[in-house]
Amino acid sequence: GVMSPSVTFYEYNKERADDDWEHDRAQLTYLRDIGEGQFGKVLLMKAKNIAGYKGKLPVAVKTLTSIEEEDVQKFLEEIELMKKFSNPHIVSLLGISTGGSEGAPLMILEYMPYGDLHNFLLKHKPKAGEHAIIGIYHQIRFAGDIANAMAFLESNKYVHRDIAARNCLVGPNLEVKVADFGMARMVQEKEYYKIAGRAVLPVRWMAPESLIYGYFTSSSDVWSYGVLLWEIATYGTVPLESSSVQEIVEMAQNKTLYHTWPEKYLPELKVVQEECHKYEAEERITFEKIAGLLPNSQTTT
Ligand code: ADP
Repeated sequence: GVMSPSVTFYEYNKERADDDWEHDRAQLTYLRDIGEGQFGKVLLMKAKNIAGYKGKLPVAVKTLTSIEEEDVQKFLEEIELMKKFSNPHIVSLLGISTGGSEGAPLMILEYMPYGDLHNFLLKHKPKAGEHAIIGIYHQIRFAGDIANAMAFLESNKYVHRDIAARNCLVGPNLEVKVADFGMARMVQEKEYYKIAGRAVLPVRWMAPESLIYGYFTSSSDVWSYGVLLWEIATYGTVPLESSSVQEIVEMAQNKTLYHTWPEKYLPELKVVQEECHKYEAEERITFEKIAGLLPNSQTTT
């Protein structure tokens, strides 16, 4: 039958040897630009014989344009993290290309043809009186897919720190995978990661303790996931759209930070969102529990 790359690549990576990641640049052909990342362009390319796949395969290639030492370092760190992630709902790293006279490294990822979840939701927002193509069935599955990926990160003690619809990608069978590990960290003994220095922060998705103290844990990822559920339910509306960053920080301090759920809509996700948005981090539900509650594209077809 037809090989389903989304299923097999993460399994291939589980057993992958350290010296098996490098991919010859000559085996990549440019097709078109598909996005703009933090470090450089994201390209659609065709790769030959990559990650155990015999033949040609469309792939997404993240390039590094910046020559700033700090950016190069971050890019390489993201690559090292992604090598360790092996889950059906995390975008798989297929290879890297670090050699060559052009110098800058390339990150070769499985191609997710429907792009990021935020734009996908905006595009499929049903108009009044119209039948929804992307409706409750898919919305719940998106939530289940992401919970599955996050349960993997939680159990392996990684915090993502930037869970939002814009950082999830939609695959050929409308399965969703978590991507963009630019802010992800291994959690140390202290069980939290404290932000250092200046950084652009996803304020509208951040938990109260992240906003006030700069603490990031799996529980703060759970809060952000609750905001992502709200994005799914509202088809990509900007969270707390009418509030400024300063006002959001004040709401966190006054314990008045909350997201009003669209009335009577998607109760299956609303109950989960409420458990994600407990003000005290210790009271929040875990990703392991959420993943057990919601169906995902592995359990339903
Ligand atoms: P950065 O984290 O540097 O901002 P992203 O990973 O978010 O970069 O990539 C930027 C954009 O490129 C995404 O919003 C998406 O549209 C596209 N893109 C990234 N990775 C893929 C992929 N694997 N498949 C398809 N499109 C992708």
